[in-house]
Amino acid sequence: MFCNKCGAQMSEDTKFCPTCGEPTSAPEAPAAPYASQQAPPPPPPPQYSQHAPPPPQYQPQPPRQPPPGGDMIYPKGSTPEPILMGLLSGCCITGLGQIILGQVMKGVVILVGGIIIGGVTMGIAAPFIWIASGIDAYLIAKKLKDGKPVRQWEFF
Ligand SMILES: [Zn+2]
Repeated sequence: MFCNKCGAQMSEDTKFCPTCGEPTSAPEAPAAPYASQQAPPPPPPPQYSQHAPPPPQYQPQPPRQPPPGGDMIYPKGSTPEPILMGLLSGCCITGLGQIILGQVMKGVVILVGGIIIGGVTMGIAAPFIWIASGIDAYLIAKKLKDGKPVRQWEFF
């Protein structure tokens, strides 16, 4: 190559002219004439999510709520006679038929509640409690005898 200023010959790899000291101004990268007109590189394709959708979250089932009215009482092989249960609750001890049929809590509540209500009302309400208790015990026993389950607190 030759110096741009003085024309002296110099080696290719020198930075300055050995004769006049002029820096070799050989352009390092000739600008391409149409470089600026080149279209910008196409944008990268949209990033579709390459991840599979997350597996559905396992929703733990809430603990099964007992049916309203408490546990079910399923008919057993030997259901007492409905009439007997009705007479027992209606004429002897309120709630006794229910207790025998499996509605223990309900029977106790009827028994205790009957005593309290009967006492509070000076015995006026007692016959009604007896009658209601007797009818209830009869119908509950009848349901069980028909093979139908009853709820722990089901009435009539
Ligand atoms: Zn020179």
